[in-house]
Amino acid sequence: MRPVKLLLDLLYPPKCPFCGRVLERGEEGWCAACQRDLPWTEPGEGKTVEGCALCLSPLWYKDGVRDGVRRYKFGGGRGHAALFGELMAQCLQDRWDGPVDLVAWVPLHPKRKKKRGYDQAELLARRVGELSGLPAEPALEKIRATAVQSQAGENEARRANVQGAYRALPGLDLTGKRVVLVDDVATSGATLAQCAAALREAGAETVVGLTLARAR
Ligand SMILES: [Zn+2]
Repeated sequence: MRPVKLLLDLLYPPKCPFCGRVLERGEEGWCAACQRDLPWTEPGEGKTVEGCALCLSPLWYKDGVRDGVRRYKFGGGRGHAALFGELMAQCLQDRWDGPVDLVAWVPLHPKRKKKRGYDQAELLARRVGELSGLPAEPALEKIRATAVQSQAGENEARRANVQGAYRALPGLDLTGKRVVLVDDVATSGATLAQCAAALREAGAETVVGLTLARAR
């Protein structure tokens, strides 16, 4: 082990992003208990999202997964993108056999990105692209700030909340492209549906949603 890494590990012992426990010797990235016990989805349990051929997620959004996403988004845990993106890339590889040209993501509003310091979906998309050998490029922009979707209430309210909030980047031509659309969590699917519509309007032939977790 390099001395610098050894020192950093002593000062900031690496923790499991899901349960927060300090990792034991031999555990890399996440703990053995979470690897075994997290609420994994089955291959047939993809979510139906309007405008998406399929929406894939390796995990259900509950228990430790919910805590992990919270740490990632609000606890400054941007480093968790490495592991989360790896789980998503694996899920895509296992469950989608169609061709893909591009990895895009559901963008934060620029103001929120500035406040948080990073765009959580962008980091996941870039990691998925890196591991899958696909380009990850900005394709969408958020043109209207919205209430936080997790506080927007029922499905109807969620749809109304994101209506017209996203569009493809001006001048972007996605004619014939097969796009993977990344976000952290799929709840009602309203945000993904809006973004898929914007991608298809720009010419995308197929959109496949990919999130770390999905709500039941
Ligand atoms: Zn754990």
